[in-house]
This record gives sequence, C-alpha cells and structure tokens, in this order.
Amino acid sequence: MKQDFDRLVLPGGESTVQGKLLDELGMLEELRARIAKGMPVLGTCAGLILLAHDLAAHDDKGTPRLATMDVLVERNAYGRQLGSFRTKGQVAGIDGEVPLTFIRAPRIVEVHGDAKALAKVDGRIVAARQGNQLGVTFHPELDEDTRLHELLLQM
Ligand code: GLN
Repeated sequence: MKQDFDRLVLPGGESTVQGKLLDELGMLEELRARIAKGMPVLGTCAGLILLAHDLAAHDDKGTPRLATMDVLVERNAYGRQLGSFRTKGQVAGIDGEVPLTFIRAPRIVEVHGDAKALAKVDGRIVAARQGNQLGVTFHPELDEDTRLHELLLQM
C-alpha cells in the first residue's frame, strides 16, 4: 500500500462489493496482518460485516471478508429496503445517549472470545469491541455526535 496510515475506518455500503474489491485489489492479507498487529479499526455497518468472523446460516459466505473479529453477524437483520430507522441508546464507555442511525443494518447475533457487546437496541447487539477492533451496526458519521470516532482515535 503506497500511502501509509495507522488507523482504519471500514465504512457502510454493500459488504459484498467491498469484500470483492478488497480481494481483487489484493488488500485483504495486508489489512488482516495490520489488524492482527494492533492497528485500530472501526467497522460501521457493511464494515462490521467485513470484520465479522462468522455470518448467519442464511447469509452468503462466498464473499471475501477480513473475518478478524469474533462476532457472528446477520446481514439485513431489519429487512432489506424499509428497515432503516433512527433511535438513541447507551454505548458502554460513552456518557449519556448516542444517536443511532440504522440503514439496512446487520445485527450482531453473538460475541465470542475477547469480543464484548458495547450496546444493545431492543435486545439486539449493535456495537462490540475486541481490543483494537470496534464494530457498530449503525452509521455514526450521519449524526453530529463524534464520540465513537474519538474512541477510535484514543485506541
Ligand atoms: N445491507 C448492507 C450489507 O449487508 C449494509 C448496509 C450499510 O452498510 N448501511 O452489506
């Protein structure tokens, strides 16, 4: 990789497209190695899907992913087109409520090993952390609250 960086945000979008591009551009191994060495990474929505080690049984497992985080994720867990909504909730480590914007979001079905749930909405895990890896099912960049990104900078 030509330009160096010491942190990474894997944004939302379409995880199948992102995974295929990372594979075709030969970036998966390098990013996996950097994450394994401790580079802080924030995966939001599709980015979290790229980080997840496991996908739900009915999700397509053929798409290349980083698979570095010990979480099981279900894609499009709120329905495909209409399942977008805003709410607020508590995120462990952040005072008060955080705005949470979900767009065809996945849900974190299970956390394993060192991965810990940081937030839940209606009983569903919407944020998790495993050491240098932070994964959220919502889009913090769409709200004014910058504290999740600040958390990444502190890591
Ligand atoms: N539905 C997308 C996927 O499964 C994620 C949506 C998003 O990133 N907002 O890849």
